Amino acid sequence: MADQTYDYDVLIIGAGPGGYVAAIRAAQLGLKTACAEGRETLGGTCLNVGCIPSKALLHGSELFEEARDGTLAKWGVGVGAPQLDLAAMQGQKLAAVKELTGGIEFLFKKNKVDWLKGYATFKDAHTVEVAGKTVTAKDIVIATGSSVTPLPGVAVDNDAGIIVDSTGALALEQVPEHLVVIGGGVIGLELGSVWRRLGAKVTVVEFLDQLLPGMDGDIRKEAAKIFKKQGMELRLGTKVTGATVDGGKVTLTLEPAAGGAAETLEASHVLVSIGRRPNTEGLGLDAIGLATNQRGQIETDHDFRTKVDGVWAIGDVIPGPMLAHKAEDEGIAVAENIAGQTGIVNHAVIPSVVYTWPEMAGVGLTEEAAKERGAVKVGKFPMIANSRAKTNREPDGFVKVIADAETDRVLGVWCIASVAGTMIAQAAQAMEFGATSEDIAYTCHAHPTHAEALKEAAMAVQGKPIHI
Ligand code: FAD
Ligand code: NAD
Repeated sequence: MADQTYDYDVLIIGAGPGGYVAAIRAAQLGLKTACAEGRETLGGTCLNVGCIPSKALLHGSELFEEARDGTLAKWGVGVGAPQLDLAAMQGQKLAAVKELTGGIEFLFKKNKVDWLKGYATFKDAHTVEVAGKTVTAKDIVIATGSSVTPLPGVAVDNDAGIIVDSTGALALEQVPEHLVVIGGGVIGLELGSVWRRLGAKVTVVEFLDQLLPGMDGDIRKEAAKIFKKQGMELRLGTKVTGATVDGGKVTLTLEPAAGGAAETLEASHVLVSIGRRPNTEGLGLDAIGLATNQRGQIETDHDFRTKVDGVWAIGDVIPGPMLAHKAEDEGIAVAENIAGQTGIVNHAVIPSVVYTWPEMAGVGLTEEAAKERGAVKVGKFPMIANSRAKTNREPDGFVKVIADAETDRVLGVWCIASVAGTMIAQAAQAMEFGATSEDIAYTCHAHPTHAEALKEAAMAVQGKPIHI
């Protein structure tokens, strides 16, 4: 039953994984709920131009590469030289996006969440304007997400399709001849992998001296070796300072990150993937006296309350990793807190996954961060010694367990394996339950599975793995 003073108990701004999950949970808890979303479809960045379309193309391009590089033939599956039908692959991507965004619309109807179609602007802390209409709510949740960080001197034009951001790179209608990826982070490596597998030459230009900032040092080193072996050219410790497009070709200006002589690099296409920034423009934060921090983020307390009474914030627009599952968990927690329950997110245990081949995943502290905190014991197990990975001919990668030297409590788990993204769930759950490495080592794991490598890495913390 809505508070008589307001149109809604809760109004959520943005229907990405943070916002739509918050809206559904709020409605499940009996609150009269609306969700404002300006896009044509629900699901935010993740479902429309992020997680889902990128995973569709990663899957399709993996199948193509398996046929082209002889993997299928090695297993006795003769298909001849494969033909790429890019339009069909893009069609599968669009179908997945349509099904999943439509699914959220169905869930909104099922849970009686009103979708207010349009972009919301604050008028005061309990009032927003959406598509010319004024709507009030007792509590308002900002879940406006993030968008691509621009790179000065390198103008993105997704319509022209030459210098593109992730949205443009997901929609290319032809395989680039030479794709230069600016930024060796998650997007650059995932989308770079897609187009490399489909036939593009790919050069990754990364400012830092290693790929994948934020991940464990061993993962970062191994990642560079794996991507080089796959044929990607890596220009580490290098920055792009400008780009000119002429006759359908791009000329980039590159400089060593540490300073030095400039050089040029020609490309047929360029992907700008140097990070994302919070969406707060046009939201009218001034009207409610809410300032952002230096990184443009909205700060909250542990319950996701902002400094303004009745206004909450979750997802990419607040500090923390920009990940869909982090946003979703915050969506559930904020709704529960608004309903008077206790919604908690353990930000120390948020897994992250890079969906390349093989996958790269981690949860908790890196070895570097754990060592800064105190003494650690580390156990490592190579995937080549795991029976299932060996049988499947997936030799690359390892699992690494980092435990507190004194208490044996697991502080972090990192892995590279074909199914690392699936394997990391077990590590996250173990850490959430406060497991020691011994707890994982003495848990019975099904054989033959890739997950046994985690058990062996945990055994290696005590120096006693069986299979190496
Ligand atoms: P968003 O998903 O960005 O949604 C915010 C929504 O708010 C948008 O739909 C926007 O239109 C709307 N909005 C903004 N302002 C207003 C307003 N004033 N009024 C109304 N509506 C508004 N994460 C993963 O965990 N796994 C992955 O595999 C993964 N892959 C990715 C691949 C790519 C190419 C990209 C770009 C991102 C990927 N991410 C991935 C990140 C993930 O998409 C984001 O972390 C996640 O979508 C954030 O959710 P959110 O709800 O905070 O915001
Ligand atoms: P990122 O932060 O992962 O990587 C950006 C990279 O660009 C960094 O390595 C940085 O050092 C580099 N860089 C910055 N400025 C540069 C410059 N001028 N020249 C060269 N390199 C430069 O950002 P992203 O890859 O754009 O992804 C954005 C967000 O989307 C990430 O926070 C990520 O969490 C999320 N995302 C997640 C997934 C996933 O979970 N699998 C997939 C895609 C995106």
